[in-house]
Amino acid sequence: MQEMSTLDKTYGYISNIQHFSIHDGPGVRTTVFFSGCPLRCKWCANPETWLSKEEEVMSLMTMTDRVKSQAIFHRMTEGGITFSGGEPTRQLHFLDEATAFFYKLGKHLTLETCGDFNFEKSWSVLKRFDLVYFDLKHTDSRLHRHLTGKDNTIILENLVKCLRAGLKIVVRIPVIDPIHTEKAFCDGVISFFKKYMLSADIELLPFHRLGDKKYDLLKLPRPDKAYKTPSDLQLEQMISYFKKEKIRAYVSHSDSHVSCDVVK
Ligand code: SF4
Repeated sequence: MQEMSTLDKTYGYISNIQHFSIHDGPGVRTTVFFSGCPLRCKWCANPETWLSKEEEVMSLMTMTDRVKSQAIFHRMTEGGITFSGGEPTRQLHFLDEATAFFYKLGKHLTLETCGDFNFEKSWSVLKRFDLVYFDLKHTDSRLHRHLTGKDNTIILENLVKCLRAGLKIVVRIPVIDPIHTEKAFCDGVISFFKKYMLSADIELLPFHRLGDKKYDLLKLPRPDKAYKTPSDLQLEQMISYFKKEKIRAYVSHSDSHVSCDVVK
């Protein structure tokens, strides 16, 4: 067990701790939202996590105590802890200490990542996760840069590396009509999967506008009005494109990137 002093002297920037999450891994989960993100997705539902703020500093002791208070729910439902953000790997030391703590307790650990990290430096931490939700925003590098502010080369390389290293991965695709509902987008994903012989499920996360009010509070322009929630028919169409290529895909409605029920 880690020294008490490590728990008390290790700090991270945590924007929220959300209990009773049910879409971000098996069972009932506590989701810990790290602040700080290298991307600026034009549809982001959590713009408040882009930058770390002084008032968000939390000791590892406080964070682990809050998570442990939910242990009975995790145990009864075979749930666990999900590390989300922002981008958790941006605070690698804190993530390392936090996952080491819960790993020793035998907790089920899930990571939600945008994939923009240094694989070699992160591997000793990544391998503690039972499940990784790995975002795939676009396989076209020019469009990826336009939509998120960053090139996708490292992200795609990391996805391949994580799968080859044996991590259990679910590839998460945010679905915005018309960006992701066009066949050309699905074709790009299918070619990428085929090129590297990837085997992973795809989870489609339909875009929503529940985060719009956060943009108002932060005095930031809201996501483009042209971005629409995909219809059920469009989602079914995407699933059938993937299915034809023997890639399993399904729709999810993760609430972790809305984080309405803030428990601090
Ligand atoms: S959607 Fe996720 S990866 Fe993109 S800017 Fe928001 S927090 Fe970062």
